[in-house]
Amino acid sequence: MPGIHEECGVLGIYRKDLGPVAEACYLGLCALQHRGQESCGIAVNEDGLFRVHQDAGLVSEVMNHRVLDALGKGNIAVGHVRYGTDQTRGRADMQPTVIEHRKGRLALANNGSLTNYMALREDFESKGFLFHTTGDAEIISCVITRERLTSPSIEQAVLKAMNYLQGSFTFVLMSPRKLIAVRGPSGFRPLCYGRADDGSFVVASESCALTTLGITEIIDIKPGEMVMFDEKGVHHNTSQMGKKKPSICVFEYIYFARPDSVLDGVSVHAARAAAGEYLAKEHPVEADIVIGVPDSGIDGAIGYARAARINYGMGFVKNKYIGRTFINPGEWRKASVHIKLSPVSAVVKDKRVVLVDDSIVRGTTSELIVGMLKKAGAKEVHLRITAPPFMNPCYYGTDIKSKDSLIACRMSQEEIRKKIGADSLGFLSLEAVRKIAAPIPESHFCSACFDGKYPTDIPDTMERDRYSKRLVRVGENV
Ligand code: SF4
Repeated sequence: MPGIHEECGVLGIYRKDLGPVAEACYLGLCALQHRGQESCGIAVNEDGLFRVHQDAGLVSEVMNHRVLDALGKGNIAVGHVRYGTDQTRGRADMQPTVIEHRKGRLALANNGSLTNYMALREDFESKGFLFHTTGDAEIISCVITRERLTSPSIEQAVLKAMNYLQGSFTFVLMSPRKLIAVRGPSGFRPLCYGRADDGSFVVASESCALTTLGITEIIDIKPGEMVMFDEKGVHHNTSQMGKKKPSICVFEYIYFARPDSVLDGVSVHAARAAAGEYLAKEHPVEADIVIGVPDSGIDGAIGYARAARINYGMGFVKNKYIGRTFINPGEWRKASVHIKLSPVSAVVKDKRVVLVDDSIVRGTTSELIVGMLKKAGAKEVHLRITAPPFMNPCYYGTDIKSKDSLIACRMSQEEIRKKIGADSLGFLSLEAVRKIAAPIPESHFCSACFDGKYPTDIPDTMERDRYSKRLVRVGENV
């Protein structure tokens, strides 16, 4: 659906002996597909020999049997799924980034966005460095390899490199003999790991990837923590912890993450249901049925219905088989939403409907969805949003890039309601959104896109976008 998007998901696997790490990586990435659908990649390490494959497309499209066979067996692997904010950048910025350096090689997959990207890049370029991408993974790899020249080990180089990285970064790194997982000190993006039945260690952006691989005991990697896996076992380094105030992205709970994931010990489903319960208390309305916009509005609708003591119903059917559509917005925007989502008139006809959704960005999708319900016979549609209005861009790895695209920056809530055609409209309050993932302390969340209180210095502009105009890689799947 049109809206906002997470930019990446990462995965890493370590095992002592050679085994089918590419297949395990493939399965884990399939579970992380919601975090990025434009491109994906896997790098496999067979005793120091790296094999890598990346391409534009879904994991199931890119990683076919031929590719997995070619990637072969290995003892370490890293994988990545990416949402490209700009079609022209998609291919050039595919990950994992693989770098050969003086002391070896590394493959790195990152989730996040550095706020000092431009400063780092200008510094490197002024010293003659060449860049092939516009992505953070390449810059992070450069900082690490620079520090590696004067460090006794790759993990020491990674720790030193963290001092130069600002903003949001969460990465997995594969060296010839080690797998290293890092969550930046602010902890914007989640990261966790666990041990599979065959003894492999698996690191992933979300726990749903680990449970897909049969792992039940999930350990969250804390903001600022580095976890290293090698032949001697698992090593934790906490020397970077506490250097920044934790600023977990609250929108991971509202929208980005999968509802069966548990992030930092809190179930995403439970957080969304709690958001719906708060919403019912803050914006009550007389109604006959509560429905949610699939997928991320469903859990909120269940919470709203429970708290308001109104029946919950399945008001929409989502087309599971459509995948990505390549219809140009404009006159076909309506059809592109319709083909993915269809109202169940038996549920909404002649009813006063509470419709729960996770966000309103431009308002165009909400307008179409409300229109569909009215056409299907709903008497009234009361739209409830499990987040406050978006008022500010995000600099930490999502595509909320400018105020221009945010309807709440241009219109009052009453104007938005009229444009969308809803009978009433209610957003979750800022106070409540910080409570949905209790017991995580309210002060440990970033909510800058709602309140403008950025937890780090921010760049003056999204200036790095200028690089996207310089290089276009066209591939066979484009
Ligand atoms: S600005 Fe919003 S979307 Fe970005 S990290 Fe903060 S809470 Fe998440």
